[in-house]
Amino acid sequence: MALPLPEALLSSLQNTKGFDRNGFIKVHEETSGITSVRYNPDKLLLYKNALPEDKVGWNPYGFYLSERPSFTFDPLFHAGFYYVQEAGSQFIWEALSQTSDRNEKVKVLDLCAAPGGKSTLLSSYFSNGLIIANEVIKSRANILVENITKWGTDNVVVTNNDPQHFSSLKNYFDIVLIDAPCSGSGLFRKDNDAITEWSEDNVKLCSLRQQRILADVYPSIRQNGLLIYSTCSYSPQEDEEILDWLTDNFSLENIPLETREEWGITQVESSKNKAVGYKFYPDKTRSEGFFISVFRKKDGEVFYENNAKKLAVPNRNEIAEIYNWIEIQQPVQIFKHNNSFIALNENWLDEIPLLQQNLYLKKAGVTIGEIKNKGLVPAHDLAVSTIFAKVLPRVELDKAQSLQYLKRKDFELNDSLKGFVLASFEGINLGWMKLLPNRINNYYPNEWRILKD
Ligand code: SAM
Repeated sequence: MALPLPEALLSSLQNTKGFDRNGFIKVHEETSGITSVRYNPDKLLLYKNALPEDKVGWNPYGFYLSERPSFTFDPLFHAGFYYVQEAGSQFIWEALSQTSDRNEKVKVLDLCAAPGGKSTLLSSYFSNGLIIANEVIKSRANILVENITKWGTDNVVVTNNDPQHFSSLKNYFDIVLIDAPCSGSGLFRKDNDAITEWSEDNVKLCSLRQQRILADVYPSIRQNGLLIYSTCSYSPQEDEEILDWLTDNFSLENIPLETREEWGITQVESSKNKAVGYKFYPDKTRSEGFFISVFRKKDGEVFYENNAKKLAVPNRNEIAEIYNWIEIQQPVQIFKHNNSFIALNENWLDEIPLLQQNLYLKKAGVTIGEIKNKGLVPAHDLAVSTIFAKVLPRVELDKAQSLQYLKRKDFELNDSLKGFVLASFEGINLGWMKLLPNRINNYYPNEWRILKD
């Protein structure tokens, strides 16, 4: 049963454009949220079945589901075939398509990135770009690594740093997204805990924290670079008032976006500097609550000098072995880290040492594996990546076998293949198995296995 909404929140929204008190209360009382997913463009190419029909208006890969399935028991969820993401958050795609060229080689920072919804979107949108997905909280940074690995793109670096640490990368990023930690009122329809935890004091605290985060990261944006600010809060203190604070304190030009009437998104304006942002009210648009605003930075420099040392790269024999495992025409560069070989989207190799000097890197690109006496021992990353060689041996599992595989439990297989073989479900890779004469060795990462029965 839905809990009553905090009166203090409702009163604080009273004068906010687009806020309809009765409609807002009603939608919280009568509905329990919408489920939407965003498909992985690179993996869709391998998929043979039909997609749902109900599309999210502002994202070409976004779809609404008629009911919320048990994602844990869908093998495709574990394979990074789609990401469960609020429709509002998927609007980042539309905001980017109006403000930036998708093919550009941009460096993008997603500062508050866990669990990874927006980072996976950014990595698909800017397939030639480099995405730095950062999360300050260590345990959440691990979840971010898991989701980025499953998404499988070769252009993401995961870091675990405080926003302050980015001040040493002055003028470095072309685009910075701050999906700020917030009081979470936008999730009330789905999450009763968010209602009980909400307070005016927390809104104030969040607003101050948002300002601190923005001030910390501002120097790292290059001149004419983009700053995208978003929250899942309706509170003016975390939305419109932050826009005024930003335009008062920094040299930022606010960028209006176009929205279609049928999307039901409300354009709001900050009271002092008239900066615009976009609010998603659940009684007006098919989404949970969301807020976004985009700016262009006017000061700073455009140039960043990279004097960092070079990385170790594979020798000719190693390259020959590696290219048995990755797609030959894939535009990647490969480097060696400890004993592993890692593939990174081309053009970005020189950035890794520089990032290593300034940040704590948890992951970069796609780990291919280690070369031992008998050849490459492939990493899980490679199996679920978008760069694995399509000619590699693969066994199609049915749903029951796939779930056993993902639980790391026994299952039968009638197949004569030997050695490392990809386990796949509906054409999408789940991971590696090693097929031996009388047993299957399951290489699915133990820490990511399904624990529920
Ligand atoms: N962008 C994510 C996505 O789309 O999946 C959701 C991000 S969530 C709204 C905000 C994130 O900010 C959380 O992961 C939280 O751990 C992190 N965070 C909390 N306090 C922070 C701080 N002081 N500085 C930076 N990030 C912080």
